[in-house]
Amino acid sequence: MRILNKLRGRSGLNRLAAILLVFVLALLALFSVPLYRWFRARADAYGCSLALKKAQDMLDEAYMLKGFQDSDDSEARAVVDRSLVGRDALCPAGGDYYIVRSGGREQPVTVVCGIHDGDARLRTRLAADNVLEQLRAEVQRQRDMGNPDPEQLTVTLNGAELTALAAESGRELARGTYYTPEYEGTVAFYTLDKQGVSHFAFADPDHSANWSRRLGWSGDSYPA
Ligand SMILES: [Zn+2]
Repeated sequence: MRILNKLRGRSGLNRLAAILLVFVLALLALFSVPLYRWFRARADAYGCSLALKKAQDMLDEAYMLKGFQDSDDSEARAVVDRSLVGRDALCPAGGDYYIVRSGGREQPVTVVCGIHDGDARLRTRLAADNVLEQLRAEVQRQRDMGNPDPEQLTVTLNGAELTALAAESGRELARGTYYTPEYEGTVAFYTLDKQGVSHFAFADPDHSANWSRRLGWSGDSYPA
């Protein structure tokens, strides 16, 4: 009898251990994906900051030696590309990089990551420019193929695809969020006329930027 009780006690203990084990495993499973993402995001941001620093140092040096005379930033881009020896891209998270001419004395030419730069307003402005430029080229390509009014177009932004939607033709787009009340992420809209893109609205979660042929850029990320 005693032995039987002992055994029972042990099996009770074993059951408790098993339940605890399952509980711990469940907790691990629950947190492992968010934890992994968190570490991955931190690692990407760190890797990006190192690559940016190296590229910026090389830009500063090249600028000091002879400046950049081009209007399309190709010389500065060539310097940034040279700084990437042994790696495919500047940003491990796939962020586009931009060359910004600030006109300041300290650093007249800076390289900025489209994901990791601390200035969200600047990021929105650069991303909006980038998307509009791609849209114009894509509209031209579609028209050359016999599609005068494409209803949606796909561009790439920070390594991911972004779908831009045609808004009601002729209607001015006041804000990127105008047509999406449940807006959460990044959106882009355009209207077309015979000459190409006539209005364009871009918004990410922090800021928006709007362009019209008549008024140029306006919105949260551009001086009105
Ligand atoms: Zn980055």
